[in-house]
Amino acid sequence: MRENACDTPYWGLNSNGIFTIKSIQNLLASNNKTDYSFQWIWSLNTLHKIKHFLWLCSHNRLPTNSYLHHLGIITDPSCPICHNAVESTTHTLLECHLVKKLWLDMGLNMYHIANTHSHWLHNLHNLDIPLYKNKITWKDFYPFALWYIWLQRNHTVFRSNNPMTTPSTLFQLIMVRVSEFKHLSTASAHDSSKIDIRILWFPPPVNFYKLNIDGAFIKKDQTGGLGGVIRDSNGSWVFGFCKKIIAFSHTLVELQAFELGLQLAFERGMIPLEIETDLTEVIEFLHHSHPIYLSVLDSCRSLLRRLGNPMVRHHFRQANKLADFLAKEGCNISVINYLVVLVAPPEKANIILRADKDGVSSTRSISLSTCTKLATLGNLSVMEFDNHINRNASNIVTTTNASNNNATRDANSIISIPLVIS
Ligand SMILES: [Zn+2]
Repeated sequence: MRENACDTPYWGLNSNGIFTIKSIQNLLASNNKTDYSFQWIWSLNTLHKIKHFLWLCSHNRLPTNSYLHHLGIITDPSCPICHNAVESTTHTLLECHLVKKLWLDMGLNMYHIANTHSHWLHNLHNLDIPLYKNKITWKDFYPFALWYIWLQRNHTVFRSNNPMTTPSTLFQLIMVRVSEFKHLSTASAHDSSKIDIRILWFPPPVNFYKLNIDGAFIKKDQTGGLGGVIRDSNGSWVFGFCKKIIAFSHTLVELQAFELGLQLAFERGMIPLEIETDLTEVIEFLHHSHPIYLSVLDSCRSLLRRLGNPMVRHHFRQANKLADFLAKEGCNISVINYLVVLVAPPEKANIILRADKDGVSSTRSISLSTCTKLATLGNLSVMEFDNHINRNASNIVTTTNASNNNATRDANSIISIPLVIS
């Protein structure tokens, strides 16, 4: 709020703050249609990870201090930026002082957006604020804005020497990111041109563990081998596992490998964790479900929640060789459902383990449209290429730092992109 300003009535359903009957009609119509359903989030034209982030926001599951306090994880629910209020989702994204300034500079008083009887995210979505920039609409802008506010908050909280960016710099950063996304998404829809991607296994950020999983399906026997390995940020073996199961599809084998990996990671306290799979369906089914695999998907979601909603990434088969090796070992086990946990790598796996640790890479030509899709699934090789382009295009800070296999990865970007489990 500006100093010395008087309080004035403000109608939160209109961007200009003036009451109209039409806004009530629109509200009733939208309530009839959607009530408190947030299904519309999945139709937004934005990055997949941002849709998941919004889904977390809509269900009040963002790991703010208020939510962590509610879960009994921390004792102090106050805002780590301003220390002036309880850090709720709306406080951190709409009302904390620097963020409030960003919205106010755009002519929006977020107090009114956050304090009407309908959900603040519905209110925000139903606005239509002109942005005075070609082809960028409010509905392009606000999801990125919320996302980058959250990233900035994490950047400040988890790296105490980094103060919050000024509102105008943050606004510019958001606009650049929205422009890039619009450009890439419209260009890549028709673009079959290929780019060379460097593929290698990336170690997890410092103090994180990484779980790679894979499944091998033998159709004629209707059996499958599950395999997985957990490594630390030095690329060193923590433990591996393999198992043979009865299965009817390759996807089921992959999902069961994923489930078993999560279960073992949870039992052994492998937190914080990130996970990689070479099957895009594993990630997509976790988000959108699948009627055939409901039970295993529910179990995976429950385990993910207990592991603190770790990042689940796609990676190419060429960078998942160790898990692939173990899945094939699983096929060779003579007893069905017999779990083998390997506290040391098998002799034959040492070559792959060494190569991954040394950052041995291969190159693959991939279409721009595939790259765009894989980037939304957290594929680090694609994101590395994307960051390389961004670094050359501007000096604005990128959100991951995976350009060198020996470099320390930025944990902030991992912490702030949880898989949404609601
Ligand atoms: Zn605050």
